[in-house]
Amino acid sequence: MEKPVREIRINPIVPSESVLVATARGMRPKNAEAPAPRDTRSHVETCPFCTGNEHMTPPVIASYPAEKNWEVRIVENLYPVLGDDRQNPNLTFGLQQTIDGYGRHEVMIDHNRHGIAIHEMGEPHLALLFGAYRDRMEQLYRSNSRLRYVLVFKNFGPAAGASIAHTHSQVIATPVIPDNVQAEVSNSRAFYHKNHHCVFCSLIDEALTFEATIYDRESGEIRRKINVGQYVIERGKKFIAIKPFASRYEWEVHILPLAHQSDFLRISKDDLNDLARVMRRTMARLDAVLGGAQYNYFLHSLPHDVQFEGCEASYHWHLEITPRTSIPTGFELGSGLFVNTVAPEMAAEKLRAVVLD
Ligand SMILES: [Zn+2]
Ligand SMILES: [Zn+2]
Ligand SMILES: [Zn+2]
Repeated sequence: MEKPVREIRINPIVPSESVLVATARGMRPKNAEAPAPRDTRSHVETCPFCTGNEHMTPPVIASYPAEKNWEVRIVENLYPVLGDDRQNPNLTFGLQQTIDGYGRHEVMIDHNRHGIAIHEMGEPHLALLFGAYRDRMEQLYRSNSRLRYVLVFKNFGPAAGASIAHTHSQVIATPVIPDNVQAEVSNSRAFYHKNHHCVFCSLIDEALTFEATIYDRESGEIRRKINVGQYVIERGKKFIAIKPFASRYEWEVHILPLAHQSDFLRISKDDLNDLARVMRRTMARLDAVLGGAQYNYFLHSLPHDVQFEGCEASYHWHLEITPRTSIPTGFELGSGLFVNTVAPEMAAEKLRAVVLD
């Protein structure tokens, strides 16, 4: 039997996002019910995102490869959380400070098949989808200098907060840099100044080559054995999928380019093909282990903002995939410390053991 793990793991990039890894039963009150099942139908007559219902969506922004035979389609959001139609100045009243909700919020219909999961899509399609992310991010950054961050994310399944069943992603361009991106960029810059290399590259190197046995000094017992590739889930020619040592979510996986690259917008056609392969295989592993994965994923890339000029060497873009298998409790909300009840080493082993065709 595995020895239970009970330790606080410090996130090497953002220490404030650390996690309590506690595999003992007592820490598991939160994953009680199975999530609501997701919609797996291929075509739904009344769905505005399904083929044949194009007239039901808000205006189209772009279609791939073309509007008449689209496979990926970007449309305006009917209920945008941010908009570009108001010119209100920022309002301040005592401690109530606001920034006008200026920005863009768009929907990307990821596939013309209603309930298709990422791992069921073909690799050429996934390359097309990620290419569409890149194009739209680039266009939005260029469209207005007030837009300081473009966030691409996907909610898949009701457990991940997807309000529309048809598979889709969202693009939000904001006038502020999200806190977690800000923290990643500044902390990795500080690491670079001290160590002269990128912390994400170091993490990849460690995942690929580090091998050690850590003993308890008092009892002499083995506390932790770290093997080659212990945290590696999938490895392509240009991309790697890693289970972070300090994962906040039980089945969280990150995908990073193996060669240092700060900005997702620099991704080449060749890179997109390999990313598609690593992505499909990683999602297939998660889906097999979880019996149908419901998840969020989001892209973290170097913001296009003057304050981050010179961070090209220290920041490394990545995709964070966070399957939803539990609900945060008062402990998490009150302490800001995430609790993970599955040891990341165990999770990685399970994911790697899935046999893919
Ligand atoms: Zn649909
Ligand atoms: Zn790097
Ligand atoms: Zn990140």
